[in-house]
Amino acid sequence: RNSLVWFRRDLRVEDHAALHHALRSSDRVHCVFVFDTEILTGLPRDDRRVQFIHASLVELDARLRSWGAYLIVREGRAADEIVRLAAELDAESVFANHDYEPAAIARDRAVQQRLREAGRSLQTFKDQVIFEKEDVLTQAGGAFSVFTPYKNAWLKRLAAHPEAIEAYDTAPWADKLAPAPAGHRLPTLEELGFVPNAAPILPAGMSGARQLLDSFLQRIDDYRTQRDFPALDSTSRLSVHLRFGTLSVRGLVRLLRARADHGKDGAATWLSELIWREFYMMILQRHPRVQTQSFKAAFDRLQWEEGPEADAAFAAWCEGRTGYPLVDAAMAQLNRTGFMHNRLRMVTASFLTKDLGISWLRGERYFAAQLNDYELASNNGGWQWAASTGCDAQPWFRIFNPVTQSKRFDPDGAFIRRWLPQLAALEGTAIHAPWLAKPAALERAGLVLGRDYPLPIVDHEQARERTLARFGALRE
Ligand code: FAD
Repeated sequence: RNSLVWFRRDLRVEDHAALHHALRSSDRVHCVFVFDTEILTGLPRDDRRVQFIHASLVELDARLRSWGAYLIVREGRAADEIVRLAAELDAESVFANHDYEPAAIARDRAVQQRLREAGRSLQTFKDQVIFEKEDVLTQAGGAFSVFTPYKNAWLKRLAAHPEAIEAYDTAPWADKLAPAPAGHRLPTLEELGFVPNAAPILPAGMSGARQLLDSFLQRIDDYRTQRDFPALDSTSRLSVHLRFGTLSVRGLVRLLRARADHGKDGAATWLSELIWREFYMMILQRHPRVQTQSFKAAFDRLQWEEGPEADAAFAAWCEGRTGYPLVDAAMAQLNRTGFMHNRLRMVTASFLTKDLGISWLRGERYFAAQLNDYELASNNGGWQWAASTGCDAQPWFRIFNPVTQSKRFDPDGAFIRRWLPQLAALEGTAIHAPWLAKPAALERAGLVLGRDYPLPIVDHEQARERTLARFGALRE
């Protein structure tokens, strides 16, 4: 019995559900990753995520080779490549882990159908979350749409089902992996038509994940109190690794439970964030329409700003030229590194939707193109939260003031100064709102507003009134 393990967003060899099941039930197991041309075609040649995936695959292949095995890498339409390769290898089954994005679900259905027609099968497993769609339900058997009761039910279910975080061993059956053919090598990034990004490469692969995790564990006890301050390096930066599965979420939860049980509230808070991730994946699974529509249907009637002025404001937001330093610094971080701190994702999303009155869908697409950790469920959930259109979202009448947020979460302007060096010499609180600075202070900093840094493109108080009216109109 031959089988094929199709790696997608699970680029590791240990604690891997599909690989585990394939190894246990087959005599010979092949491993493959497909660079899907349907996804790659629309990406810039220096896309950071392609580089991250490529580096992670090089490591995955090296690990498989240390077991005498190897990774097949193909390029093409994933569905075609998998069906073709299964035939070439005469694989009875293809094994993969569940993916919850609507496009991936449709692709997997098509692959299943085509494999079935050829007398083969596709077997898929839960791997990227602890609990999925039907696992955590209300007492009445329905789906949750509010986070806190979902989280409580999630924790209760874990306590009742500790096996949900048991590791899926793979090493004991490694001898069943197909041996590497002579001359095997992976295509280079350039052979795939990509080039390295100018930004420093993120620590990729299983070793990159381990390195970030080890470093974060030194700081995790301060996570609860420090996680909201973007100038501090207080979060894990593991999102891109969770996105591509270079580490096992079960492994993380095993580790956290042990700590949280010992009263460590940093670990408990961090576990909550991992539960948010599963909450949004569950929401996307149960309500795939949220991809393009508001979770709360009434909000689809919102009249967002459109036309040339809105387009110009959107461009200023994307490029970090709004005149609000915290917003612009955050966009600079995103544009230059592909990462943005969580607090700033909330601030910039709120600014686009509530200060500029532009639809969350446009911001969501921009983040999707830029974020290394872009993940449909969390990105959509985060945007709908900030726009107040989502489940358990920020109420629409609570509107972040970008200057107040700046004073609270970047009190001495350290983050702003790092990303907007043209403002670095501004002293005191002027860093949060340069247009309010005294002329002498601007002169001391050598700063001319409108030349070195923009004046605000919108007045927050007026924008706030417009947003209240925009949402208020829905009640009529
Ligand atoms: P940590 O603080 O170390 O958190 C640990 C992990 O928990 C993260 O890696 C992530 O997997 C998960 N997590 C943390 N916060 C959230 C959250 N609010 N929702 C869901 N999962 C969470 N996260 C993504 O992974 N991909 C996205 O595309 C994405 N888009 C977002 C868009 C907006 C508008 C907002 C407000 C949030 C978005 N998030 C997204 C959630 C969050 O901002 C990032 O997960 C986090 O900033 C990643 O940094 P970290 O790994 O250091 O997080």
